[in-house]
Amino acid sequence: MVLAAVSAVTAQRPARRHWAIVLHGGAGVIERASMSPQMETAYRAALTRAIEAGAQVLDANGSSMDAVETSIRIMEDDPLFNAGRGAVFAADGTNELDAAIMDGATLKAGAVADVTRTRHPISLARAVMERSPHVLLAAAGAGAFSVYAGLEQVPPSFFFTERRWQSLIQRLQKEGLPIPPRPAGAPPEPAAPAAELEGHAAHEYGTVGVVALDRRGDIAAGTSTGGTEAKRWGRVGDSPLIGAGTYASNQSCAVSATGTGEYFIRLTVARTVCALVEYKGLDLQQAAGQVIHKELAALAGDGGVIAIAPDGQMAWSFNTPGMFRARLAEGGKLEVGIYHDEP
Ligand code: ASP
Repeated sequence: MVLAAVSAVTAQRPARRHWAIVLHGGAGVIERASMSPQMETAYRAALTRAIEAGAQVLDANGSSMDAVETSIRIMEDDPLFNAGRGAVFAADGTNELDAAIMDGATLKAGAVADVTRTRHPISLARAVMERSPHVLLAAAGAGAFSVYAGLEQVPPSFFFTERRWQSLIQRLQKEGLPIPPRPAGAPPEPAAPAAELEGHAAHEYGTVGVVALDRRGDIAAGTSTGGTEAKRWGRVGDSPLIGAGTYASNQSCAVSATGTGEYFIRLTVARTVCALVEYKGLDLQQAAGQVIHKELAALAGDGGVIAIAPDGQMAWSFNTPGMFRARLAEGGKLEVGIYHDEP
């Protein structure tokens, strides 16, 4: 009897599976014509660095949660992305950061919204999951928990980048909104536009997300962002909302989204992709494609998703001209893409 029970468990859960990881660095009007070759090379290198770090964790038998957190921390520190350092600015001239992480094995999740001093919002999201009784903490309370949890604190100017600042000013001018003072602690304004200001079209994009499958067969998802440029009034996007921008369940899939969050919230995009897999039996690419190209398109929403399933399926889908993205499965070839006409 006991032996039969043991072998039944073994049959359901093979000891070793192949790991896989998919990441995105934001979707939007990202086009060859407006991207300098240097900028493009820099993005491809940054995506490669981030995915290789997560892959290393998985290859050393680390968990999908650790891989997600590791890759996202690297992108949060990289000023190319709209997450952590390099985040877009809210209309009042602050960087307000959102992040979420979810463990597909347990359905535990943690998230933070509008944090301003935590260097790695993804780690704060994980601390909320592991060390608080809650799922989502916001603003000052999330900041207080971050200090209590011992996470690295930085002055708000740590997140400042000139290109995001100039991008905000241009947008506010266009929209006829007041220009806030240059943030305290920011470096003095350069006399001439820096080389980093090239590739303007990509400026307001760059949310980051990772989904991973580990050798135990567990999947996880995480997302981190500065939100949308010139956001107002404590706006919170889809990224930290479980089921909208981030979701993971071993019963179906793990998803991280990027795009104009308001649409992703209304459509509960991440959970809907997984529900199509779980209840309708769609394969992962079909499920992602249906939500992005039918449901999101029907609302005239813009953006994309990355997804992974416990059986190793990997998918991405977006309805924008570009999405920074990469994927890698154990023993496979690394794929890095930016524009819609790449595989
Ligand atoms: N989804 C993010 C938000 O709305 C932004 C993005 O992915 O570009 O906050």
